Amino acid sequence: MFIVKEIQTAAYLFASILFILSLSGLSSQESAKRGVLYGIVGMIIAIIATVLGQGVEGHVYIIGAIAIASVIGIMLARKVEMTAMPQLVAILHSFVGLAAVLVGYGSYLDPTTQNLHGAEHTIHLVEVFAGVFIGAITFTGSIIAWGKLDGKVPSKPWSFSGLQLMNLSLLIVCIVLGVMFCGAEGTSGMLYLGIMTAIASFIGVVLVMAIGGGDMPVVVSMLNSYSGWAASAAGFMLGNDLLIVTGALVGSSGAILSMHMCHAMNRSFFSVIFASGSGNAKAGEKKAIEGEVTSLNHEEVANLLKEAKSVVIVPGYGMAVAKAQYPIYEMVQTLRKAGKNVRFAIHPVAGRLPGHMNVLLAEANVPYDIVLEMDEINDDMPDTDVVMVIGANDVVNPSAQDDPASSIYGMPVIEAWKAEKVIIMKRSMSAGYSGEDNPLFYKPNSEMLYGDAKASVEKLLSSLKG
Ligand code: NDP
Repeated sequence: MFIVKEIQTAAYLFASILFILSLSGLSSQESAKRGVLYGIVGMIIAIIATVLGQGVEGHVYIIGAIAIASVIGIMLARKVEMTAMPQLVAILHSFVGLAAVLVGYGSYLDPTTQNLHGAEHTIHLVEVFAGVFIGAITFTGSIIAWGKLDGKVPSKPWSFSGLQLMNLSLLIVCIVLGVMFCGAEGTSGMLYLGIMTAIASFIGVVLVMAIGGGDMPVVVSMLNSYSGWAASAAGFMLGNDLLIVTGALVGSSGAILSMHMCHAMNRSFFSVIFASGSGNAKAGEKKAIEGEVTSLNHEEVANLLKEAKSVVIVPGYGMAVAKAQYPIYEMVQTLRKAGKNVRFAIHPVAGRLPGHMNVLLAEANVPYDIVLEMDEINDDMPDTDVVMVIGANDVVNPSAQDDPASSIYGMPVIEAWKAEKVIIMKRSMSAGYSGEDNPLFYKPNSEMLYGDAKASVEKLLSSLKG
């Protein structure tokens, strides 16, 4: 059974509108679930309209492949821990890149495209070449990002002085190969396409290897953008308007997110995407950390909370690891019932995914009006009695402000140390994702509360209620 072209076009238009509504829904926590629903419905319509389109053959294979992939997808999604989501997202980006490469090769070798002539033929070859180029960079770059997020590849930036020059030279070589590819007869351009694929794959590796530590959020959003452009390129090769539109939506929203993340981290967008030095750190000795680390037990922290009038909670990646959001919200409710002003301070790069903390707090039904962004709450820190840093580290590290040799120097952070008292809840003195030691732990108004965040909050709760 096939549907006529007009119906397919109408279905594609409807699906595109649903994708746009989905993106707009995802822009705020209140409407995020609705946004996801729009996306799911849009994708179902898109798949049905494509599979039933005229000229599509082998429905049994397509449905079989979709069924197998859906089962694998559902199993993976059920199994994967929330803390492993960033790695999952990175590896899914790599699939989009690989798909664009395979579509490019398939489209080049497809006998029907060999019948194209003149400008039409050249445009098709440019689409293939550009699609494979973006796809290969996305594929290998995403694999390296997966490795960095999963701890399989060191997260520290790896770079050398001639990196930019090398990347520029490789880009020029690819352009020359592209010209030769477009001029080649029949399928004799395979050699140029193959060499370019190898070069682009190498560029993907070095581009992402050169970024690391605290700048990884930008890599995640940047690869999200690349995967969109790769999908869009595949859409051009296949002549599928919906894929072009959807890819462009993902590509542009990913690019906007990357710019937003760069702004949040005070990094230049272009220096990150061209890997021209991922940080603002200056050469030189790191500042020696002064002070002594002191700690309190649960009873003592509970007493501090009982006396406090205003409390700010700064969650970080450790909250996700410990799955502490539920007891944290119970603790917040207990404190609010006792008349205290309790709010959350969210850093844009806290956790391992853009919006990671917001998602976890929304899951625990924390009301949105007490969840504030870093910029909204930093000015209130000097008037705060107790700041509770729960599983966060880099996002409250003062060396980002006062140690030019620190790799996170220049990144705006939550100024927890300006509060009267700071309680840091973590299991040890170990560093955060950036690998930088944190002078906050040594400040005279800081106290450590060691232990798993969830277990610690549960103990605090029973002391507060007792
Ligand atoms: P950090 O990675 O800086 O620190 C997390 C802290 O949580 C660790 O120091 C760890 O200390 C503690 N922790 C881990 N498990 C537990 C537990 N069960 N209970 C209590 N504490 C625990 O996290 P932040 O959120 O402060 O900063 C995020 C970092 O990740 C930034 O550097 C950011 O650039 C980077 N990043 C962010 C991405 C994003 O998109 N948001 C993507 C990729 C990287 P201990 O082991 O002692 O318990």
